[in-house]
Order: sequence, then C-alpha cells, then structure tokens
Amino acid sequence: ITEGTTMRHFGKSRKLDDVLYDVRGPVVDEAARMEASGTHVLKLNIGNPAPFGFRTPDEVIYDMARQLTDCEGYSASKGLFSARKAIMQYAQIKHLPNVGIEDIYTGNGVSELINLSLSALLDDGDEVLVPSPDYPLWTACVNLAGGTPVHYVCDEQSEWNPDIDDMRAKITDRTKAIVVINPNNPTGALYPREVLQQIVDLAREHQLMIFSDEIYDRLVMDGLEHVSIASLAPDLFCVTFSGLSKSHMIAGFRVGWMILSGNKNVARDYIEGLNMLTNMRICSNVPAQSIVQTALGGHQSVNDYIVPGGRVYEQRDFIYEALNAIPGVTAVKPKAGFYIFPKLDVKRFNITDDEQFALDLLHDKRILITRGGGFNWGEPDHFRIVYLPRIEVLRDATDKLADFLSYYRQ
Ligand code: PLP
Repeated sequence: ITEGTTMRHFGKSRKLDDVLYDVRGPVVDEAARMEASGTHVLKLNIGNPAPFGFRTPDEVIYDMARQLTDCEGYSASKGLFSARKAIMQYAQIKHLPNVGIEDIYTGNGVSELINLSLSALLDDGDEVLVPSPDYPLWTACVNLAGGTPVHYVCDEQSEWNPDIDDMRAKITDRTKAIVVINPNNPTGALYPREVLQQIVDLAREHQLMIFSDEIYDRLVMDGLEHVSIASLAPDLFCVTFSGLSKSHMIAGFRVGWMILSGNKNVARDYIEGLNMLTNMRICSNVPAQSIVQTALGGHQSVNDYIVPGGRVYEQRDFIYEALNAIPGVTAVKPKAGFYIFPKLDVKRFNITDDEQFALDLLHDKRILITRGGGFNWGEPDHFRIVYLPRIEVLRDATDKLADFLSYYRQ
C-alpha cells in the first residue's frame, strides 16, 4: 500500500442493522473473557444438552459410524430418501395433512431452514407475526430477509399462551405469515388445542401462512399431548419445523427438517423459491441425515428423561420450586423443553436494564443467564435459565441467585 493512501474500512452490511441474536451476545462475550482469564462461569444460557452429560443414544452413533463411508458425496438437495421417508412417517403420526416425500426438506439444523424459508418469502416491508418472547432467530431472520417482524404478546398470566386479541390487532394488509413456537423457547409453554384452533381461525380469515417451530415436541412432560398446528389446518399452507438437536442430544450434528402441508396450491410460487434456495445450498450434512431413520424409529430414549425420576423432569421441578422460593422472583412452570423464563420484581430491585442485570449477576456470582430482551421481550423484567445442568449445580446457582438478590440494588 502506497504511503498516504487511506485504508478502506469494511463495515457490516446494513441488512444486519436490525438483527439481534443475544443468546450469543455481549454478556456471553464478557463471560468468555472471564473464562479466558481463569474464572469458572456457570453457563445457564445455551440449550445444548451434550455438555451437561446427556448422551446421544448409542444406536444413533453406531449407525452413523457404519454409514459414514456411504455418506461421502452430496445427497439430493432436499435430503436422503431414507431420512425424508422417516420424517414423512413422523408427519403421518402427527396428523399433518397432505404431505408427500417432496414436501420434506432436511437442513443443517432447524436454524438453516428458518433462514431459508423466510428468505424465500419476504419482500421489503412484508410483515410476519412473531411471538414475544421468541426464539430470537425468528425475528432476526425476518429482519435479514428484509421483512418486518411484528410481535404478538404471549401472556404470562395465561400460562404464556399467545394473546389472540393482540395477534388479531396486529394483522395488517402486509402480514404474510404467523410464527408459532410450540413447545415454546424461552417460556416452556405448550399450547392447548383450543388456542391453536383460534390461531388457525385467524390465519384462515386473513389468508396467512403458518410457520410452526416444533423442535421441542418430543420433550413434553406431565403426560400432556403435543398438537401440531398444521394438523388443524388442512385448508391452509403450513410449514412445520423440527429436528434431532434436542430430542436426541445431537445439537452438534446439525440435522433438522421442515414439512410443507395443507393447501400447497396457494404456495406454488413460494415453493419454487424454496426449491431454488435449497438447491443453492446443495444439501445438508449427509452423515447427519443418515441417522434420521434410526433416530425416529423404535425406542425413544428421550422419553426416559421427561417422566418422574428422569433428569429433565426432576431438574424442571427443582428449578421451578427453587426460583419461586426466592423473594421477588416468580416463574410459570414449564411443560416442555428445558427452559424457564422467570420474572423479576423490577420495582423491588430497581432494574431498568436487563443487560446490566445479567452483567452484574455474571460479575458477582459467575452465573451466565440470558436477559429477556434477548428474546424480544419488551420489558427488563425477565431472564431465561436453561435447566439442563444437574440438580446439585442448579441448587448452587439458585442459592447464589437468592444471595445476589438479597442485596442487589437495595
Ligand atoms: N428453534 C428453537 C425454538 C430452538 O430453541 C432452537 C435451538 O435452540 C432452534 C430452533 C435451532 O435448532 P437447530 O439445532 O435444529 O438449528
């Protein structure tokens, strides 16, 4: 470079201006700095089962090892026939209407497919109804695709079910789709059939597409039933997402899928777009696809975790009781998944900024939680805990949290 030349600086794309993904954000960076300098941090921030001692079923590992040499090449863009056939059978069990093998797409996790499905749909200014709180990738991907996320409220007073009146009030001429996350991350809610039916009625009235993220559908507790919203909407176009990251403790393998169902005639052009983007990424990780059939068939070891005596169930009960025993903290009992979204009495603790709260807790007690704002929650009064660690570890965390809150800003 010749002397006197001003260096060109490379800024990030403006497309990222409104994109937020705090699950791995500034507080996490601070925790990483603390760890790099030798401080142990208890991480209650990421829903990644493997580091907490949840093992992948042996059968899945053996099966992948055996098939590895057959998985060296690309697969068809939508995925291996065996994987898609197994997913199709899964769709039948969940009563998804009008699903054929061509309606199933595998992806590098549900994450890739969330991005792809929104990119294929949205033009600038198109609106998508997204829950608040949400799994923030949904809001981020609507923004990235040039769309506008419009948040409908999930109501803590009503077990975190979507507020249908709020949803209705937020529909405009530009609304194209409703996103439903059921079971929900971060609240742990499981939506009853009547609530799903009301969402379907609204989608029907306004001719909206439904995106349903059901990655926790095999982690439902208390003997409750998970209903796929698409099963209630044979006349609407629905896209249902799920995968093996959580149910089979293989978040690192990166395997998920989406299923198109119902009235595909209204979405012919969109499906062409989906196919184009699917072709452009060539295919998803083939070794990971190769175990879908084994994983979805036969004994589901995850079932042992979610019943009394099972780790997820017992840890859920523990964290629920322990949090509610802390003065100034209340939490709705999660019915599924492995997250709880407690509420803080912000007046008592004088909290106005939930990022500051997360940082203060991190610095004082070396506990990493995710602030509610990271889930597009509008008030500074919530945070999320991942209850994957063992009860001894959760007890240590809640004892420290209780101690912290006994003096915080008082
Ligand atoms: N959807 C929800 C609701 C999630 O909680 C997660 C991960 O935490 C994902 C999607 C992404 O999962 P995957 O590992 O399949 O990309």
